Amino acid sequence: MKRDGSIVRIGIDLGGSNIAAGLLADGGLAYKCKVKTDTSSESAVLHGLADVVFDVMKACGLDAGGIDSIGVACPGAVDSERGVVEYSANLPLCGADIRTALSSAVGVDADKVRIANDADAAALGEYHVGVGKGTENFMLVTLGTGVGAGCICGGRMLSGRGHSAGELGHTVIVYGGEECACGRRGCAEQYCSASALKRQTKAKIETCERDGIFTSMKKLVADNCGRISARTAFIAAADGDTAAREVVDAYISYLSCMLTNFINIFAPEVLAIGGGVSGEGERLLAPLRERVYGEMYDRKRPREMYTRIECAALGNDAGIVGAAMI
Ligand SMILES: [Zn+2]
Repeated sequence: MKRDGSIVRIGIDLGGSNIAAGLLADGGLAYKCKVKTDTSSESAVLHGLADVVFDVMKACGLDAGGIDSIGVACPGAVDSERGVVEYSANLPLCGADIRTALSSAVGVDADKVRIANDADAAALGEYHVGVGKGTENFMLVTLGTGVGAGCICGGRMLSGRGHSAGELGHTVIVYGGEECACGRRGCAEQYCSASALKRQTKAKIETCERDGIFTSMKKLVADNCGRISARTAFIAAADGDTAAREVVDAYISYLSCMLTNFINIFAPEVLAIGGGVSGEGERLLAPLRERVYGEMYDRKRPREMYTRIECAALGNDAGIVGAAMI
């Protein structure tokens, strides 16, 4: 059954841990669901994709004929024209023909199934209905396990040779610095991701323990079942903890270095920050803007021409919403 003339789009956010899907209606999500990603094989991942589509169809009373499009946001290098994942570092999907597999599994025409890189899809979501709305030059930088980026230049998604553009987390900000999974040293991802912030927090707590310095981060970790989160240092710093303040200041220095590079290269009208760390809001943004605006190349221009640095608006739903808009 199809709903009264409205366009029925399903978005799927395929991640290393979960596959999340939703039905997009009037620019918002009418229904959401998710399953754990079974990463044991290509067919297991493809089954998971079909499962979430069936879940959405059942919950929303849709049949295959009533679906106008299914978009899948995938990590890795993705050939959107062919609907094929060309390369994926974290999922067993190198060469997987998602378009053909998903369309035959759920009975929807292949030309209605579209795929895109996950960071690109999230950027697309923010560009159409989030903080990038109304701009022509927009970028989304997500701070999570790694650093992801999606970049829209002059109204077009930056794709590059072999659909590999936008791996901005693997630009070096500390020459000869920490080893990165990509094989280089000093990549921004090793300093600016949420995982990096957790490592920096852990190291500081250990230093404090060794040197007999008090830090309230220790209690926060104990209260959180022994887990360090990307919020630990921010919460303790806001509470006046000196060691935590040092962690936050150092993290913001790295982040501002990376983002200033991006702004100098792409000059977006809006640069949005997504991922877990963006939950800090103004505690993160205010000092970050101060640093970036003091360093970026064209800082002597009138303030209204500056890149606006904002938190992403769609949060965890950006992948699903963006996928539905591919
Ligand atoms: Zn790297």
